[in-house]
Order: sequence, then structure tokens, then C-alpha cells
Amino acid sequence: MKIDVLTLFPEMLEGVFGASILGKAKEKGIVSLNAVNFRDYANNKHNTVDDYPYGGGGGMVLKPDPIFAAVEDLLPENGAKPRIVLMCPQGETFTQRKAEELSGEQHLIFICGHYEGYDERIRQHLVTDELSIGDYVLTGGELPAMVVIDSVVRLLPGVLGNESSAVTDSFSTGLLEYPHYTRPVSFRGWDVPEVLVSGHHAKIEAWRREQSLLRTLERRPELLELVELTAKEKVWLEAERKRRSEQKASE
Ligand code: SAM
Repeated sequence: MKIDVLTLFPEMLEGVFGASILGKAKEKGIVSLNAVNFRDYANNKHNTVDDYPYGGGGGMVLKPDPIFAAVEDLLPENGAKPRIVLMCPQGETFTQRKAEELSGEQHLIFICGHYEGYDERIRQHLVTDELSIGDYVLTGGELPAMVVIDSVVRLLPGVLGNESSAVTDSFSTGLLEYPHYTRPVSFRGWDVPEVLVSGHHAKIEAWRREQSLLRTLERRPELLELVELTAKEKVWLEAERKRRSEQKASE
């Protein structure tokens, strides 16, 4: 996969692109990560990429010409169409589903904003996706782009050592992940659940599924509406829900 990031601060991306899983994915040749300073595409004497908003008001607006020129320079000659992702707080909220969708692409181009906003024509005539990482406002699109890139790259085949770890991650299954334990088996008097040291794989799987359902019920009950549950699980969860609300009422 090829990933290009248009930014005014390419140095912000260097550490993240070179370390940990992303750095290894790059070394293995699974992904190429490239930060492009779109100021290099400004066609004026002072390399200006922003200007005052028409109609007045505070803040500066990113001009369309340097961003269009930078994207056009990155388009492949074979006519293939990359996904062009605008990072912005008004976009679609980023989710694991979206990460899975983007991980199937050959080429992604991210556009990181700064200042007050983008010239609207960038949204209307250049980008294929607008992504937000949550309902809060950051100074620039670099951190959000890095969040998205990290979660997409770790899904590419060969990137994670243990392929199954991405499959069981929270949200990939539609549920939150079950609890994990490691050695020692007893720590300050807190013991690892017996089933996990039983060596009985079917029982361990059943326990993990149950814990996953319980954790999702406790923390993100709305996710349960979107996953496929067996009839037995539905009955069990309903009883669990009832038990919890009765317990709450009696407190
Ligand atoms: N005035 C804009 C608005 O109200 O939508 C916010 C601009 S913000 C200060 C500057 C840039 O940071 C945005 O163009 C975007 O690239 C990035 N940004 C800020 N918060 C973000 C978020 N939650 N998700 C994705 N990008 C974000």
C-alpha cells in the first residue's frame, strides 16, 4: 500500500512513520509512507498556502491551488484512483469498519488541514472521503491522520506478528475484546480465572465469548444491536441485563 500525507509539518510524521509497527511495515516493504509539504506547491512569491476568507470573519483558509497541485502530482500515471481523505472534524466519524475498508485500497492520500478551514472547493471537487477522529477540535490534521494510518496499516497482511490479534481486537468482531491475563498466575492474591489455565480450548473460547459479551453490555451496550447473536446468547444477555437493572434499582 502507498500512503501519502499532505501536510505543512512533515517533521511531525517522521517519528511515527519510523517506529514500532509502522516502521516495521515500512521496512518489510508492505507500505510506503510519504509526507509531502504542500507549501512546495504554492505558486506565489512568499509560498503562501492560506488566505483571508471571503465575506470576512476570523481565521485563515487553506487555498485550493497548492492542495490540488500536490494531489495531482501524486496521482499514478496508470490512471488508478487513490482514496483522497480530508481530515476534518465535520467528517464521518472514523471507526474500525472504516479502517477495514481503507485497508483494502492500494493508495491513500491524506490531507491535513491547519488554520480555520479549507476552501470548500477542496471538499467538493477533490476528496473522496472526509474523516473525523471524534467530536473535538485539534490544531491540525496530522495527529488525526496518524491515528487513521496506524489503524489501517496494522490490518495489512504480514504487518502484525500474530495475524489473529487483529481479528479478535475490540470492534473487529463487533464486540469489545475479552480480558487478558499473563504470568504470574497469582499476583498479590489476585488469581487468573481458572478456566484460562485449564488447557481446555473449547471452555476457554466459551469463556472469552461470554466475557466479550459482558464487557460490551457493561461499556458499549449499543454495539450489541449490530452483532449476530445466537438465540442462547440473546436469552442469556437479556437475563443479565434484567439482573443488572434490578441490582441498580435496589442500590
Ligand atoms: N474550523 C474548523 C471547524 O470548525 O471544522 C476546525 C479547524 S481545525 C482548528 C484545523 C484542522 O485540524 C482541520 O482542518 C483538520 O484537518 C484537523 N482536525 C481538527 N480536529 C479534527 C478531528 N476531530 N478530526 C480530524 N481532523 C481534525
